Amino acid sequence: MVSTEVLIGLLTAAALAAAATWYLRGWWLKRKNLRLRQAFYLGIAELLQDETDQALDIFLQISRQHAQMVELQLMLASLFRQRGEVDKAIRIHQSLLERPDLSPALKREVQAGLGQDFMKAGVFDRAEQHFLALESRGELPPQALKSLIKIYEMEQDWPKAIRYAMQLERQTGKRLSDVVAHYYCELAEIALRKQDFSQAQERVTQALAKYPGSARARMMEARLHQQREELSRALTAWKLALETRPDLLGEIWPELESCYLAVHGAEQLLQELDALLEPAPSALAQIIRAQVLARDSGEEVALKRLETDLQRVPTITGLACWLSMKTDLGGGGEMESIRLIVQALRAGKRPWHCNQCGFSGSSFHWQCPGCKSWGSIHFSQEKSSDA
Ligand SMILES: [Zn+2]
Repeated sequence: MVSTEVLIGLLTAAALAAAATWYLRGWWLKRKNLRLRQAFYLGIAELLQDETDQALDIFLQISRQHAQMVELQLMLASLFRQRGEVDKAIRIHQSLLERPDLSPALKREVQAGLGQDFMKAGVFDRAEQHFLALESRGELPPQALKSLIKIYEMEQDWPKAIRYAMQLERQTGKRLSDVVAHYYCELAEIALRKQDFSQAQERVTQALAKYPGSARARMMEARLHQQREELSRALTAWKLALETRPDLLGEIWPELESCYLAVHGAEQLLQELDALLEPAPSALAQIIRAQVLARDSGEEVALKRLETDLQRVPTITGLACWLSMKTDLGGGGEMESIRLIVQALRAGKRPWHCNQCGFSGSSFHWQCPGCKSWGSIHFSQEKSSDA
């Protein structure tokens, strides 16, 4: 028989051993967590300094010891994608998606990541599949919405691009009205190609309702009025388009002028010419003014006015026009030589520039061929220093 004292002693020793084990385990866990936290901070610091390679090494090391940490795996996948190692990112996301213990929130995050991996890999149909699967489980995150918009722009599926752009607008509060107006204009162009004028009008009305400042929609509205022979209304729309985008004078003027002549006649055009051209870039306005004056008041008047304009604002384009008119009036061999020199100086000039990516070109686009931004291509005002 064990005495009561011995029993108490044994029980006390066991309790002390259990307490010591509990304390040591807690101390070890704390140390382990501290090391983990320190490694994490180091990884984050490297990330903040854009040292992706070092950050990746640190997170890979942690992940070998803590494979169960989903957030860490997500970070790794994102780093792999950032470095262009999309296959590795896809593998991590796919293996995470198969885990049965994933919470619904994390599952959504993994699926969104997988969609972004396929976007980066250029496999857009798979990216779309993942984003749409994500949508069936709730609201799409902004990045997924942006990717879907990009996909539908590439596919020229404008109704879907409109739907997701509006969703993104509601979700982020960032206005995308001008972009959505371009999508409606694209739909109007399709209708016009099919000669479906009422459908085209409906799309243009939607574009203007979404963004009244859309020069593109105004120009289309003007053409639709002209097609219905509503010339006064067409002229109002052309003027509004020019007010909105004076740098598009070269694109707008031929139709605006013919409409103006039909409504008011040549005399009134001459009277209102300066007011009409006032907001436009000087080089373009100089040429158009000279052309109108040459036609309606004669070459001599046009040349005199162009000379005054050039003295006020010297431009190479205006000078080329002046030399061309002077040569036509019999300016002689020397004038022709100078005209050819100026023509050579102007050759290769790219007057259209994107204010988003710096792309430059010799013709105008509603969507930048470089960065795919809408409405970012502008006519760059010619400066005398360009020469
Ligand atoms: Zn651009």
